[in-house]
Amino acid sequence: MIIRFRPGTPPARVQELREKIETSGSRTVLSPEPARPLLAVVDKLSSELREVVEACPDVESTVQPPGAWRMVDRRFRENPSTVKVGDVEIGGGKVVVCAGPCSVDPLLDEAAAMVSQAGGHLLRGGAFKPRTSPWSFQGFGVEGLRLLKDAGQKYGMPVVSEVMDAAQLPAFKDHDIDCLQIGARNMQNFTLLKAVAEAGAPVLLKRGLSATVHEWLYSAEYLAAFGCSDIILCERGIRTFENATRNTLDLTILPLLREWTHLPVMVDPSHAAGIASLIPTLSRASIAAGADGIAVEVHPDPSVARSDAEQALGSGELATIVAEARIQAAVTGRGLHT
Ligand code: PEP
Ligand code: MN
Repeated sequence: MIIRFRPGTPPARVQELREKIETSGSRTVLSPEPARPLLAVVDKLSSELREVVEACPDVESTVQPPGAWRMVDRRFRENPSTVKVGDVEIGGGKVVVCAGPCSVDPLLDEAAAMVSQAGGHLLRGGAFKPRTSPWSFQGFGVEGLRLLKDAGQKYGMPVVSEVMDAAQLPAFKDHDIDCLQIGARNMQNFTLLKAVAEAGAPVLLKRGLSATVHEWLYSAEYLAAFGCSDIILCERGIRTFENATRNTLDLTILPLLREWTHLPVMVDPSHAAGIASLIPTLSRASIAAGADGIAVEVHPDPSVARSDAEQALGSGELATIVAEARIQAAVTGRGLHT
């Protein structure tokens, strides 16, 4: 249950009701927004206590989220939340483009130059790679983080990279990686979610390969419950019966997420389609459906890319995607991040 107090309710009266609920054994969380206190009650209340809450003159209304999540629920905030990755704000009404190679490789500098020249805002690149086959390139590891951060600083872009194991977190901190990506394969690695939440950096939480929206939001709730206040969701396609494309891009859930959660949402059409030629159209569709940003893979020479070469865009295509993102953002009453 989320309790919505009347605007201006004195903190002492909020605290009074909160203590009553907690004494009954139910945990509560107070929303960080000061103007209107919103109190999330984690556990089910007895019918007597429910009546006390509903009769309280300071309580304007109570709502029940569609799932058992609380902190990421739309009604737990007055306004949708925004996340700052370096100086780039996500969810604040300006559409953001995140781009870079699937894996950090020797051509990273050229890839970063491409992203910067095309007008991208965030530089992505995997240093630790979750590969289906153990014989596939596993990533440059810590050296990859160093190369990524250097390129980000050289071209003036905050960087995003996937963390696969809590033991890697000190290296992400040492290299000041601006945003930690939780990959699709780790969306329900709850030990990792807790550790990443406690690390204190913004998190890009990708949707699991076969995860329902409920499961995805529970994973986001794990991050929030363990201390992460900067969560970005990223739809990246789900596994369906369709095998003409790598995955199926599920844009249906974008307007649903707007109703269910206050978190900003990005879309990664690269891992959804798996085919470079489809990505410009899917990028436009993602922004039209309300995405706060897109994340795409690029490479200066896909023939030598160490992973996901088939979905890598060239520099001209990326520039077109950014130009079209500007138009789509304007059409949907927003703008492109500067
Ligand atoms: C990636 O971003 O390169 C990646 C592996 O993504 P996903 O976890 O969505 O498959
Ligand atoms: Mn990839």
